[in-house]
Amino acid sequence: TDMIVAIDGPAGSGKSSVSKATAARLGFDYLDTGAAYRALAWFALASSRDTADSQQVISLLVDFDYEIGTNPGEYYVRVGEDDVTEAIREPRVTAVVSDIARVPEVRAFVTALFRSIIRSSPAAGIIVEGRDITTVVAPDAPVRILLTASPEARMARRAAEVTTQTAEDVAAQLHKRDSADSRVVDFMTAAPGVTTLDSTDLDFEGTVRAVVDVING
Ligand code: C5P
Repeated sequence: TDMIVAIDGPAGSGKSSVSKATAARLGFDYLDTGAAYRALAWFALASSRDTADSQQVISLLVDFDYEIGTNPGEYYVRVGEDDVTEAIREPRVTAVVSDIARVPEVRAFVTALFRSIIRSSPAAGIIVEGRDITTVVAPDAPVRILLTASPEARMARRAAEVTTQTAEDVAAQLHKRDSADSRVVDFMTAAPGVTTLDSTDLDFEGTVRAVVDVING
């Protein structure tokens, strides 16, 4: 696939749901890259590893049998025989995912995986969403977008999504994760040539339409 649409942004920017809906509308594939970091975090917990110990995390990569659905209508995430689509969203996974994501060996491993998934996509295009897609994974993509929103809007959206935690807990975890993640990759400022799209005052449909407009030039 040559038609790569790279979308970066912080948690709660609407990135995932907007990317998925846009892909469905255009008949494109959709690649959620955060799911790979989450799945490796889930795998580390399932294997009783200390996620703060990068050597323990690196030693898991050889056995990390990862699969993700890129059809926006059939999203799933699997590790070995386990369907972890729901489990990787649990707060206990979210709490340790930044530990996983800061290990350079992990980033190199999953980046190679992402490029191979993109290369073998049979669709007319693919929307790839994450934190370092516009800068590291696919810096040559013809369309590159940074999706932002005010901290208040991001907290409110995340709190509405997560029903197992209080709004305060969600806000605290989001803040902690954003500061840990931004030490590894800068997803708050647009790299040269990247289009910034602020969704603070847009509803879901408005944001999808804005992304489609950028793609159609
Ligand atoms: O997008 P999502 O919130 O599911 O991402 C989960 C975590 O994966 C992020 O908090 C970050 O630590 C990591 N991540 C990353 N680079 C990406 C996508 C996600 O480091 N491209």
